[in-house]
Amino acid sequence: MLRDTLKTPSGLHRGIQILYLVFSVALGLQFALFVAWLLGKSPLLVPRPPAVEAFLPISALLALRRLILTGNWDPVHPAGLAIFLFALLTALLLRKSFCGYICPGGTLSFWLFRLGQRLGLTRNPPAWLTGLLALPKYLLLAFFLQATLRMSLPELEAFLNAPFNLAADSKMLFFFLPPDRTVCIVLALLILGSLVLPSFWCRCFCPYGALLGLISLLSPLAMRRETGACTGCGRCRRACPQGIAVDRKTRVCSTECTGCQECASVCPQRCLSLHLDLSPRPRPLPWQLMGAATVGLLLLLWLWARLSGHWVSQVPLELLRSLHENLSAIQHY
Ligand code: SF4
Ligand code: SF4
Repeated sequence: MLRDTLKTPSGLHRGIQILYLVFSVALGLQFALFVAWLLGKSPLLVPRPPAVEAFLPISALLALRRLILTGNWDPVHPAGLAIFLFALLTALLLRKSFCGYICPGGTLSFWLFRLGQRLGLTRNPPAWLTGLLALPKYLLLAFFLQATLRMSLPELEAFLNAPFNLAADSKMLFFFLPPDRTVCIVLALLILGSLVLPSFWCRCFCPYGALLGLISLLSPLAMRRETGACTGCGRCRRACPQGIAVDRKTRVCSTECTGCQECASVCPQRCLSLHLDLSPRPRPLPWQLMGAATVGLLLLLWLWARLSGHWVSQVPLELLRSLHENLSAIQHY
């Protein structure tokens, strides 16, 4: 049955999504056990999973700037920088496949969108409103980029080596465990919004996705619609988790397209497919390429980072433990 599921574009897309979601939950649990040890609440030292640094994109952005300025890889959250570079690279080569296949935020948005459709709640806003709703994520992106670019090298070093950054992953955990009233209200609003608007969080608020979307415009891959065979049934538009009007485009070059190929899966005419758009004559590509290349690239980068010493944090455990003994030291910077 699993093999049959993976035989369609949407099956492969959903299979990879679920795999990474399960992996992310396992990662979170392992990290929570590690933090319990740091806090002295558990006698058992569980190894810290470096991949949790994927949830620290601001730290990774600052580390990238320092890497560009000095050539030095961040020793505090090295895996975070590796994963950030992976996301940028996938956007450049494979559109927003990081959001569509890997990111748990994108996965949750997708399944809430499907649930909203089943409940008959989903609405596709008009184009002008879609543009307006995307404004917050671009403003957030502009804010983070200008703040990063304005920092001098000593300021970057000071931030990256500050207790706040050293324990930023724990701070992220404390934000959700246990969630306070504000967090619960925000999460409830995001869930409700995602049931009504396709990819509510990704399309409206995520600055990470905004950055990847802009870079993805350079990607040589794109979905194409064979207009001659298309009957205009609109199934592809309704299936698109990003709310893209696929049935009105010949080439989907939207900043929101994740290459998930949910649109291609539902087309009765088989007139949607992934294309390489480098040459004057676009060439169709196997639909498996997007998912396989995304996973393959991630594994390759992980292997390189592990073997070359760019994966495991150099922060001594004793230092982390002493920071967690005085939690107020990591609350503010
Ligand atoms: S246009 Fe197709 S490939 Fe792109 S996000 Fe929508 S469903 Fe996925
Ligand atoms: S599902 Fe296929 S036939 Fe229907 S509108 Fe989309 S591209 Fe055209």
